[in-house]
Amino acid sequence: MATPQTSTAADTRLGVVTHWIGGKSWDGAVERWGDLYDPAMGDRTSRVAFAGPEVVDAAVAAASRAAETWRHVSLASRARVMFAFRELVERRKREVAEILTREHGKVLSDALGEVNRGLEVVEFACGLPQLLKGEFSENVSTDVDSFSIRQPLGVVAGITPFNFPAMVPMWMYPIAIACGNAFILKPSEKDPSASIFCARLLAEAGVPDGVFTVVHGDKVAVDAILAHPGIQAVSFVGSTPVARYVYETGTRAGKRVQALGGAKNHMVVLPDADLDLAADSAVSAGYGSTGQRCMAVSVVVAVGDVAERLLPRVRERIRRLKVAPGLEPGAEMGPLVTHEHFARVVSYVEKGTAEGAELVEDGRGVKVPGHERGFFLGPCLFDRVTPDMTIYQDEIFGPVLCVVRAGTYDEALALVNANRWANGVAIFTNDGGAARRFQHEVQVGMVGVNVPIPVPMAYYSFGGWKQSLFGDAHVHGREGIHFYTRGKVVTARWPDPKHRGVNLGFPQMK
Ligand code: NAD
Repeated sequence: MATPQTSTAADTRLGVVTHWIGGKSWDGAVERWGDLYDPAMGDRTSRVAFAGPEVVDAAVAAASRAAETWRHVSLASRARVMFAFRELVERRKREVAEILTREHGKVLSDALGEVNRGLEVVEFACGLPQLLKGEFSENVSTDVDSFSIRQPLGVVAGITPFNFPAMVPMWMYPIAIACGNAFILKPSEKDPSASIFCARLLAEAGVPDGVFTVVHGDKVAVDAILAHPGIQAVSFVGSTPVARYVYETGTRAGKRVQALGGAKNHMVVLPDADLDLAADSAVSAGYGSTGQRCMAVSVVVAVGDVAERLLPRVRERIRRLKVAPGLEPGAEMGPLVTHEHFARVVSYVEKGTAEGAELVEDGRGVKVPGHERGFFLGPCLFDRVTPDMTIYQDEIFGPVLCVVRAGTYDEALALVNANRWANGVAIFTNDGGAARRFQHEVQVGMVGVNVPIPVPMAYYSFGGWKQSLFGDAHVHGREGIHFYTRGKVVTARWPDPKHRGVNLGFPQMK
């Protein structure tokens, strides 16, 4: 078992962030580094090691050794380790949240929410002994029994995005590890520290050295993971172009791959909806985490006369939002993650205006005293957006909400179904029949009825359709267990004199 490690939030505040291999910080050579920033101040704070193929080789070697032993550890012991980890994260979640706020920029309450949603998956993984049960059929033939079991794959990897540095990895590794695999995480190079904090907590919980590994880096590290013959499966979450690349490259190398991509989530508001609830929801889901959520609402589809009645309510709420550094009490919207991303989102606001959409709320003038170099952009609201505009077609991933007007329910549905992404969608209505029709007809993976961000609980699976997911397995829930295990069916007979004798006929059940 691993030597207990005590971690503190201060460990990750200063100095460099390096890999976690074989149950300890990497002390080998580092040839490339990336910069880390405080998004609220705009300052460079530290740097992160970037792995090349040789570091990935070392990580896979340590993970392979660990996987050989870990798969034989009893279900009870694996569940206990997961439970100990759950307790540690629960106790230390404020520290994890502070790390998230410092590196990602999201406000502390939102960061705590992220950790809590990740914890749900850890709790789900504590029940693995129940979920891994196979099937047994007695006497499939005379004196012959048949049963199915699910076994771990070996070494599996996860490649994750910047926007949920704690939760998205937790969608993967608690289940993979509880199933008996060794897991290699390649977190986003923009906010890698939470992964190292959690690695230390996993070690403290009793996860053996090498069962959980973190390698940092960019495309070079990802390519080394995708090419490595010692890695059996890859879970990816990130933007659509990279998801497609990871899926195609990983499967070509013979790996099992699930690759979750980007999104453009619509919120359809019917004329009979509770418009105060709809306005609260549009603002919360549009601007929460500064619009950097894969389940953020980025398009409100206002049906019939809804726009005239809904927009004043939305604008009133936008004007009350507190844009401030994430650790400041009462802050509701923090900065964007990097200056590069800030510039990209601002360029979309400019494009929207140039293409003829009406910018009815403009957050570009927002100033946060003392944080003038921070990556802050206030909430932006576009009305009269049309499907041919760039701001409708692209995923902006910032605090930019677009209102598209539709004449009827059918027009709204057709708009949603024509979109190339299909991660989440919501309908707001008081008509149960309309809601039921929508949930039946809409071609999207996760549907909310008067719920703007319908992220499934850990015991259901999370995933979109179309270009929001490549592969056929969603994450966590039963699909997660299937993804990280292989099925085996055993047919057994305990020799008995009456079965003896050569028979070349095809075996038949008698
Ligand atoms: P990203 O695609 O830029 O990066 C994701 C991961 O891929 C990172 O670990 C990064 O290092 C790596 N990567 C980046 N470029 C690469 C390349 N060219 N080749 C190989 N690897 C590469 O995504 P991001 O900006 O970190 O995250 C935001 C995106 O993630 C948004 O599109 C968002 O919708 C999506 N996302 C989707 C979900 C979902 O569940 N569908 C959840 C969260 C985020």
